[in-house]
Amino acid sequence: DASTPYHFTDQSSGEALVKFREKFSHKGTFGHALIMAGSYGKIGAAVLSSRACAHSGAGLLTVHVPECGYEILQISLPEAMISVDQNRNYIASVPELDSFSAIGIGPGIGQEALTVRVLDELLSKIKVPLIIDADALNILSKHPDLLEKLPAKTIVSPHPKEFQRLAGESANEYDRLELARNFAQKHNVIICLKGAYTAVILSDGDVHFNSTGNAGMATGGSGDVLTGILTSLLAQKYTPENAAIFGVFQHGLAGDKAAKKKTKTAMIASDIIDNLGW
Ligand code: AMP
Ligand code: MG
Repeated sequence: DASTPYHFTDQSSGEALVKFREKFSHKGTFGHALIMAGSYGKIGAAVLSSRACAHSGAGLLTVHVPECGYEILQISLPEAMISVDQNRNYIASVPELDSFSAIGIGPGIGQEALTVRVLDELLSKIKVPLIIDADALNILSKHPDLLEKLPAKTIVSPHPKEFQRLAGESANEYDRLELARNFAQKHNVIICLKGAYTAVILSDGDVHFNSTGNAGMATGGSGDVLTGILTSLLAQKYTPENAAIFGVFQHGLAGDKAAKKKTKTAMIASDIIDNLGW
């Protein structure tokens, strides 16, 4: 309904966004994703987001991790190239960005002072679509000056607590949605407000409620998987709007397939990755 800002992503409107792979395509066609993730004790977040990215169609994937993540990443995802930070336990530098077509940052990065500088430098240099999640959002919450540097149409993917840190308290879910619509318009960003029925809020204030997903996804690492999917879709030149709507849809769909096979209780975030596709 064009007369309200509210839309609903169901199976048919979700699948309609798929960009099919042409016969004469090659890996260059599907872009080169960069994921910046992980710190000591949270390298799993880098593994999950990177595996999800690789399984969502990106042509090439480079993962930038602190030194302590190098072997772990190389072994858990031989398909990825690794950019090793000079710092041992957390990310302290921005790699050369020229060859990447989209960047995802945040899962498990922590909030060390040098990592804050990395985010600042990245926001100054970046010329390609960006998705910001997790600790990178928490950094933004503590350094609101960085919010002014967000490139147009950046995707942010906060869970309710992260959104509250970013935009402030709201009395109820309706107020939170209105706060998010104002935030998206003010900063010209796209918000994936995560939870049951994740709301994708576009920078014009339109809201796309997602129909897929289940409470089995309420478990550590689920959000990191979404970050990888979104980075992958951006690298493949989905528009930021379609990447957010379709990425959230596909993430939930994979979660629903995982729950069907394993039950909501037994499934873990890796099972979402194993059920990607449609
Ligand atoms: P995070 O908190 O960053 O790990 O993100 C959790 C992910 O799981 C988000 O994509 C949520 O939308 C999804 N999720 C969590 N709980 C539920 C739920 N009860 N129903 C559907 N999806 C959920
Ligand atoms: Mg998260």
